[in-house]
Amino acid sequence: MELALRGRIAIYFDNNDKLHFVKDPLILIEENKIIDIGMYSKLKKEIAGHDIVGDKYQLLIPGLINCHTHLAMTLFRGLADDLPLDIWLKEHIWPLEENLNAKDVYRGCKLGVIESILAGVTTANSMYWYPSSEAEAMEEIGFRGLIAAPVITGITKLEDAIEIVNKHHNTAEEKIRVTLSLHSPYTVTMTDFERSYNYLVNFNKSCNEKSKLLLHTHLAESKNEMRESKQLNSKYGIEFPDVKTPTELLNNIGILDDNLIAAHCIHLNENDINLIGSKNVRVSLNPLSNAKLGNYMPPIPEMISKVRNVGIGTDGPASNNTLDLFDTVRFLALYYKGYLHEPTVIKAKEVFKLATIGGSRALNWEGIGTLEAESLADITTINLKQPHLTPKINDENILNHFAYSMKGKDVENVIINGKLIMEEGKISNLDIEKEIELVEEITHRLLQ
Ligand SMILES: [Zn+2]
Repeated sequence: MELALRGRIAIYFDNNDKLHFVKDPLILIEENKIIDIGMYSKLKKEIAGHDIVGDKYQLLIPGLINCHTHLAMTLFRGLADDLPLDIWLKEHIWPLEENLNAKDVYRGCKLGVIESILAGVTTANSMYWYPSSEAEAMEEIGFRGLIAAPVITGITKLEDAIEIVNKHHNTAEEKIRVTLSLHSPYTVTMTDFERSYNYLVNFNKSCNEKSKLLLHTHLAESKNEMRESKQLNSKYGIEFPDVKTPTELLNNIGILDDNLIAAHCIHLNENDINLIGSKNVRVSLNPLSNAKLGNYMPPIPEMISKVRNVGIGTDGPASNNTLDLFDTVRFLALYYKGYLHEPTVIKAKEVFKLATIGGSRALNWEGIGTLEAESLADITTINLKQPHLTPKINDENILNHFAYSMKGKDVENVIINGKLIMEEGKISNLDIEKEIELVEEITHRLLQ
């Protein structure tokens, strides 16, 4: 039986950046694709043979896209808060990670996937250790995601990362992809960046678009990053005395292009922003994590106007501290209004775009982030019959609710790749309480 989705209104951007509002909508799904979307009165003759999901209170939107996270870090949520990035990472997170095993990461990631789906996220780009465990957790639940093949100088080699690519890239009915994950310019030398990039360019030469690999890194996250990059590289005999910023550094070795997805992008000068925009670098903005770790804020208004391939992410659940993308949406929509004394900056439709079609571009994943016919059927429905989502006067009014009043808890149904993964708030075949207990046990063990 195929699916048909009903609601009060559907909202989406198409691939030409046109914003659509469809009243009394019907979405017809066959196999893993949306075959048609339109008003119920026009499409209802096609409905025979479809299971109907949804009701007149649902808002239908593309499944939300989390462009940068570390899913298994659910294990470390709330353990070391109110600290700067370097102390948080070096004195708290890295020592705990030394004792992690593959099973722990599977459990942590599984809980992260559950938390994501409950909040309407259908795709996440996760960078973590034991990527096969993350792939296993995603595949088991039917999630769409990118896992990391990590390269960190002195810890993991490109050769090992290539094995992960060969094992997992474009698997699980093409729902799982791999990124070549080079943690950052302060943990990976420029030699390792260049070697990995050369492998990737060679790999991508013979690929169609959906088989291409991306290189995933943290970029310009903290103000110390340039100094720390120089220190690391200097240990390996690599010097770059004239380079001023991490963005310039990656540009100098020729890897700043659309093969790269860069997370954070906070400490950028005007030249850096122009480089990122003109070279079509893919960007994940993670303002809530940046605020929490006291890393200052990315230049979001400039990024939105100059960078096409830009989406948003939560970052890991230990630095946000949730995987609810609605928190990030609301914070992003509000922050600059206050900071710049300018309520017209970053409008509701712009944050909606970042969380949907912008995410598709940031991850180079065609077919997600929209509800256009022929796109992949990743859809989230939101129950609008709630006090904090009242009134519903017109299209713009409902879109404003998305940016300023909606929460992950309002999500009612989630469809990924044409399959109904969550129905009326319940994820099928999952004992969530048990998954929570298992994660609690692991964290207690790691802390001992
Ligand atoms: Zn991160």
